[in-house]
Amino acid sequence: MAERNKEPIRILVADDDPAVLSVYRSILGGEGSARSDGANAMKELSARLFGGDGTPQAVRAQFELACVGDAEAAVNAVRDALEKRRPFAVIFLDMRMPPGPDGAWAAARIRTLDTDVDIVIATAYADVDPWEISERIPPVDKLFYLQKPFHPHEVRQLALAIGRKAQAEARIRHQLAYFDPLTGLPNRNFFQTRLYQAIELARRHSRQLAVLFIDLDNFKCVNDTLGHSVGDQLLQITAKRLTRSVRGCDVVTRHPPGEQLHDLARLGGDEFTVLLAEIGKGEDAAGVAVRILENLAEPLHLAGHDMIVTSSLGIAVFPQDGEDVETLLKSADMAMYHAKRMGRNSFQYFSRSMNEGALKRLTLESRLRRAIDQNELSLHYQPQLDLLTGEVCGMEALLRWESTELGQVPPMEFIPIAEESGLIIPIGEWVLRTACRQVRAWRDAGLALSRMAVNVSALQFVQAGFPGLVARTLEAIGLESCRLELEVTETALIKDSENAIDTLRKLKALGVKLAVDDFGTGYSSLSRLKDFPLDRLKIDRSFIRALPSSPGDKAIATAVIAMANSMNLKVIAEGVENDGQIDFLRDRNCDEIQGYLVSRPLPVDQAEDFLRKTVVNRVAPPVP
Ligand code: C2E
Ligand code: MG
Ligand code: MG
Repeated sequence: MAERNKEPIRILVADDDPAVLSVYRSILGGEGSARSDGANAMKELSARLFGGDGTPQAVRAQFELACVGDAEAAVNAVRDALEKRRPFAVIFLDMRMPPGPDGAWAAARIRTLDTDVDIVIATAYADVDPWEISERIPPVDKLFYLQKPFHPHEVRQLALAIGRKAQAEARIRHQLAYFDPLTGLPNRNFFQTRLYQAIELARRHSRQLAVLFIDLDNFKCVNDTLGHSVGDQLLQITAKRLTRSVRGCDVVTRHPPGEQLHDLARLGGDEFTVLLAEIGKGEDAAGVAVRILENLAEPLHLAGHDMIVTSSLGIAVFPQDGEDVETLLKSADMAMYHAKRMGRNSFQYFSRSMNEGALKRLTLESRLRRAIDQNELSLHYQPQLDLLTGEVCGMEALLRWESTELGQVPPMEFIPIAEESGLIIPIGEWVLRTACRQVRAWRDAGLALSRMAVNVSALQFVQAGFPGLVARTLEAIGLESCRLELEVTETALIKDSENAIDTLRKLKALGVKLAVDDFGTGYSSLSRLKDFPLDRLKIDRSFIRALPSSPGDKAIATAVIAMANSMNLKVIAEGVENDGQIDFLRDRNCDEIQGYLVSRPLPVDQAEDFLRKTVVNRVAPPVP
């Protein structure tokens, strides 16, 4: 505490009476106190103002005092001080300063310049209404009122109390502006300033420096499955482990023991950075990187769970990977991103070649993060047709992203990124909820849709809580489970088939329908699928495209339909674009089709119109 209070409190006094200013000087010290008037005059005036023997005890070291003689000079002094970034903590204003404007006038002007400063209005007159002034010059808790004659102790204690409060507030503001409250580490602002200084030094001395960009792998999963408070604890542990990794390393520890280490920062979320301000050569950073990765990957026990949280790390070196703060950070970020793609729990140096592709992905990823909140996602619906009856038997919900900055981004571009970054989890939840709500809304409007197909990404499918999420969604929306069909890709099923079977059984128990999407592209044999409790196979578009001319595709389509029929699975053909394909498929007893020939995926209002004409005339039911 004593340590912190060393800094003098900056005080400004405005009074038109030089004698009164002298008294302030003698109470509060400061630059003018040495020039105080003759001892007798002083004593006399002090006695007049304060009563008693008029000898106040000055506490000079605690204050830094500036005095002015009128209201305008006070306003100018405040402006000057702010420009020099040395604002006053407390300002004493005399109420009456004839012939110029009064203290209340000055207070109002000062408040517009400095919203934080505490103002004390001093007056000998009883005609001033403090309530009225407080209302005119808010905030009320920063305006004080001092009635003359005052006792020196009163002035000094007021200045001390208010000044210390202001210093404490300023410290908190500083702390919030430069430090992350969760981990206590410097924040992005601080790091950028620190990096800027380090770059200048490195440039001057022709040295290299490195920036390490660290991001936890799958942090989002921890947050989503165990809750934010566990996520916060994980970040705190990470901050401690990083501090330990960086402290123990020769390259960075130029700090005297006990001094806060400022070369480590939390940029936000689960992103951390380390600055290696003096490295002999770029490769030196690798040692620190390995140490950090090892420390972070140590097992930990959190909220009753044993877990290992790995991280990915990118390195950018000054000057070759960037000569300014922004470029260096961006390069390190990109290198980190590359490390993630190469298999996580690893580090990568930045290289120019990763620039273009990675930049695009990074841009997409960062925009996609905000897409849900900014209402940029929507669903289009593509009808599915029963070949026997010629009626719409279902719709597939297909995700669309209209980014304000990038325009329409095709699913094939953003879905892989959503999957790699884990964003597909919240996005998939949104899709599921929105599609189910739509079926419910259509039903409420008298438009019965027998089935809504929703695509489920492999990452979503393997989440332990996925069947529970589906159950809760259906329940919350009040939708019969048999109206929902989940499309899972063949690869998601084959990858970890034991767990896949278990998840499928749980979903089946709920009553939802299950389809294998893009069948034929995952190199699995049909016989492997016999153990899976499925309802439908969707033959991938690539096998339909060249029908009926391609003998190979004809053979595949024929075999898939025949085997699926024998396994009691329904078959739907994707990407049907012409009548020749339909004739072929119907001939082979394919149950359903989906494709541009029936309709392209439609925005919700057009899909609704389509539904109203439930029987589609273009494809007539076969003659019995
Ligand atoms: P998919 O599930 O196989 O969806 C069918 C894709 O084929 C859709 O592409 C659809 O527009 C397109 N298509 C349908 N009929 C025809 C046709 O006759 N000719 C041609 N050339 N194309 C046709 P889209 O909408 O671009 O979606 C691509 C893929 O993105 C989807 O393939 C699916 O794997 C994925 N996807 C779409 N929405 C979601 C979603 O909500 N979640 C997840 N995880 N994946 C989604
Ligand atoms: Mg699909
Ligand atoms: Mg498909």
